[in-house]
Amino acid sequence: MSTFLGMPRGRVPGPPADPAVGQLTGDREFPDAARDALADTRLRRNLAHATSTIRAKRAQVVAEVPDWEALREAGSAIKAATMAQLPELLEQLEANVEARGGQVHWARDAAEANAIVTRLVQATGSDEVVKVKSMATQEIGLNEALEAAGISALETDLAELIVQLGHDRPSHILVPAIHRGRSEIREIFVREMPGVDPHLRDDPAALAAAARAHLRAAFLRARVAVSGANFGVAETGTLSVVESEGNGRMCLTLPQTLITVMGIEKVVPTWRDLEVFLQLLPRSSTGERMNPYTSTWAGVTAGDGPQEFHLVLLDNGRTRVLADELGRTALHCIRCSACLNVCPVYERTGGHAYGSVYPGPIGAVLSPQLTGLTGGHEPNDSLPYASSLCGACYDVCPVKINIPDLLVQLRAEHTEARADRRRLPSPEAAAMKAAAWAMADAQRFARAGRAATMARHGIRRGRPITPLPRPLNGWTASRDAPTPPAETFRDWWSRTRGDDSGDES
Ligand code: SF4
Repeated sequence: MSTFLGMPRGRVPGPPADPAVGQLTGDREFPDAARDALADTRLRRNLAHATSTIRAKRAQVVAEVPDWEALREAGSAIKAATMAQLPELLEQLEANVEARGGQVHWARDAAEANAIVTRLVQATGSDEVVKVKSMATQEIGLNEALEAAGISALETDLAELIVQLGHDRPSHILVPAIHRGRSEIREIFVREMPGVDPHLRDDPAALAAAARAHLRAAFLRARVAVSGANFGVAETGTLSVVESEGNGRMCLTLPQTLITVMGIEKVVPTWRDLEVFLQLLPRSSTGERMNPYTSTWAGVTAGDGPQEFHLVLLDNGRTRVLADELGRTALHCIRCSACLNVCPVYERTGGHAYGSVYPGPIGAVLSPQLTGLTGGHEPNDSLPYASSLCGACYDVCPVKINIPDLLVQLRAEHTEARADRRRLPSPEAAAMKAAAWAMADAQRFARAGRAATMARHGIRRGRPITPLPRPLNGWTASRDAPTPPAETFRDWWSRTRGDDSGDES
C-alpha cells in the first residue's frame, strides 16, 4: 500500500498527475450519437424487447423478497462505510491476498494498469490470454494494449465474444450484445469464427453450441487468464466473480496464471457484507434468485487451480470521485445494470450513444466523474444531460444511488466549468445575475415587474414571444416565452384587496 499514490494511511489519496482514462471517453457528443441511434429501427426494436424482458423478470423476483428495501438499505450502508475507510480496507485486502500466495499491484491509471498486465503476461512467455467479462479491463482498453504488445485477448463471455468477433463495442453492462438479434449473431459467427458450420442455424441452442466448441479449445490451451472482480473481501483476501455461463469459471481455474484487474471501490469488508450483495446483485441484474456461477478464490493453492495469482488494484480517477461527498456514492455501483433497463433514454438510444464503456444512467454519472468535466464540448460533458431525471434509476438501484441528484450536480459543475472557460459571461449567466440583482430588493423587483408589463405593449397581445432576440434566442429554441401579463401580481393585489403592502411606494 505504501506505493499507492504515496498517500499516508487513512487519508483519501489525490488524483493521479496525468490520468489516462482508457476507453472512458467517446468520440462524439451524446445528442449527435443518439440521433443516429434513434433512426435505427432494428436497434430500437432489439433494445425494447430485451430491456422489457429483463425488467419484468427483475420485478417478479424482487417482489418475492419481503425485506428487499431493508436489503437495499444494508447494501447502501455497507458501501458508504466501505468508502469511508477505503485505504485501510485496501491495505487489509493486499495483506491477505499476499499471505495466501498472491501478488498485489497498484495502478494509478489505465496506462499503468495496462503496462503491469502486459509485463505479467510477457513474463509467462504466452502470447494469448483468455478473458472473463470485465468492465474494468474495458475501461482501461486492455485488449488494445495487449494487442499492441503482440498478445491476443479472447473474450469468453458469450455476449462479449459476439461483440469482439463483430469488431463492435458493448452496448450494455450486463448484456453487451443487447443490440444484436439472432440472425446478426449467426452472420458474425459464420463470418468470423474459424471452422464454424456455414449452415449454422440461428436458434439459441445452435449458436451457443458453436461458441462452446470455439471456446473450449481456447480454455484448454490457455496458460494465462485475465479477469475482473465483482467483489474483493478484505478480511480474507478473497476475490469473487459472478456469472451465468461457467465460461468465467473455466478461465479462473484452468490456466496456470490468473491476473485480476479490480477497481478499488470493489472491496467489501467482510463475508457477511458479501452476503448482502450476493442477494441484491442477481435479482437486480439478470432477474435470477442467485447467480448460476459464483466463483471465489484467495491466493493460490498447490496443485489446484492457477499457481500464480496477481491482483491489479485500479484507481483511474476513482480517488478524485471519492473526494466528493455526493459524487462518491457513484462508486457504490455494483454494475447490476438495473438502471439501464428502466431508463427511457437508454431504452431508445442503446449504449453506443453514450460513447463510453459505462452506458446508461450510471455511465452518464460515472464516466464524466472519472475523466472530469471540461466545460467544453468533450463527449463526456454531454452525458449528464442524457437523462429525463424521471428517477426510475434511483427506484431500482439495489444500493440506492441517487443518480438524478448526481446528474443535477454534474450539470451544475459543467455550467460552472463552462463559465470559467469564457472570458465574458454567457447570456444565461448574465440574465441570471440581472435577475438576482432585481430580486434582491423589493422595490427593484416591483419596478422590474412594471417594466415587463409595459414591454407588453410592443408585443402582439396574447401571443407567446418566439423567438426572443439574440443573444436570448437559445432560451426560446425549444420553448415559448409567455407574453407578460397586463398587470403585475403586486398591482393586482393592491387593486383588489385595497392593500398597498405589495407596492414599493
Ligand atoms: S447505479 Fe445502481 S442500478 Fe445502476 S448499475 Fe449501478 S448498482 Fe445497478
